[in-house]
Amino acid sequence: MQYSYMTRLFCPKCGRNYDPEQIHQLCTCGSPLLVDYDYEELKKVWTKESLAARSSNIWRYHELLPVRKEENAVTMGEGGTPILPVSKMGEKYGISHLFMKDEGLIPTGSFKARGAAVGLSKAKELGVKKFAMPTNGNAGAAWSLYAARAGLEANVVMPVDAPVTTRKECAASGARLWLVNGLISDAGKMVGELVGKKGYYDASTLKEPYRIEGKKTMGLEIAEQFNWEVPDVILYPTGGGVGLIGIYKAMVELQKLGWISSDKIPRLVAVQADGCAPIVKAWEEGKQESEFWNNSKTGAFGINVPKAIGDFLVLDAIYQTKGCAVSVSEEAIQLAQLDVASKEGLFICPEGAAVFAAAQKLREEQWIKEDDTVVLLNTGQGIKYADDLEAEVPVLEPGDSLV
Ligand SMILES: *Cc1c(COP(=O)(O)O)cnc(C)c1O
Ligand SMILES: [Zn+2]
Repeated sequence: MQYSYMTRLFCPKCGRNYDPEQIHQLCTCGSPLLVDYDYEELKKVWTKESLAARSSNIWRYHELLPVRKEENAVTMGEGGTPILPVSKMGEKYGISHLFMKDEGLIPTGSFKARGAAVGLSKAKELGVKKFAMPTNGNAGAAWSLYAARAGLEANVVMPVDAPVTTRKECAASGARLWLVNGLISDAGKMVGELVGKKGYYDASTLKEPYRIEGKKTMGLEIAEQFNWEVPDVILYPTGGGVGLIGIYKAMVELQKLGWISSDKIPRLVAVQADGCAPIVKAWEEGKQESEFWNNSKTGAFGINVPKAIGDFLVLDAIYQTKGCAVSVSEEAIQLAQLDVASKEGLFICPEGAAVFAAAQKLREEQWIKEDDTVVLLNTGQGIKYADDLEAEVPVLEPGDSLV
């Protein structure tokens, strides 16, 4: 058996092929590249039963990952996050089978660890020494820390408003970090100049083909955790949309392997904030691509992406699965965050809270049915944003009475 069954890189827009043993960034046509595998061969040599003997991290699916040699996998045990019933929230919303996959329980505290683990492992395998990326916080933190483990140099540009904890994670890792008084799109332009002039590997979202493969493992895990009977609906907080594209790719690949039925694919929902909803607007207008969202603003920082380079792939995944796109208000996000903490004991991130608020909205609109099995992705730890949460707490002097 080989470790990886990757066959090629290909462009989903113009169809060009690329040699996966060499470094590639975007296609010459400007589109992100995707990874292809030898599904026919895999069908013959790989069984889902073989997974039982493997450890519960993302590398249990190594045949469907791009890293050629096991020793190149840079790992901190990422993956295998739990799917928890959230029945009190389900009761409140009127959804009988409501679950949350908790990506807060992963190294670096956000699901970005999946993309960083695979993206960095592959970069290392290809001989990359230095890379640069813009970030809204969590991706920079994850890539910086995995880079430290792998011995690569990280160059990271982050908006000054990004969550302070993520800034400190980058700094602690020894990454070269800059803050910009602007948005991730501004940071992206600076990184573009840096990689152009210095020849660094560009690790910006979807400008390297491999982080999506890491994020894909969320979809593989959901299918396996539901015993290969996929749920009806999956809601995902969508910024760059890599997670959603990845979950869709996972489902399609599992259908190709015959591990899940080809009759059913979960309806995928892209959740955004009212203050930054380019995918929602494009979906409502039936478009294939989104437009730049001016003056974007939301406390759910990971989904503050005014224009995603892979927007057409996100929209395609929504259309192909008969999903939808929906945005929620800042008030609804804050309310959901407190509700989930006080009712379920789960301190989730604002992006995850947006997904809860969206489930409520879609249930009210009857888009989600009462007996649908619904999975909500909580993409990170609430603890990473704790400074942003307002909590009114009385302060006492020693000796004051509590009664
Ligand atoms: C990056 C991020 C997102 C958005 O992820 P994409 O896959 O880029 O859409 C959502 N939640 C959190 C916590 C994030 O850090
Ligand atoms: Zn192309």
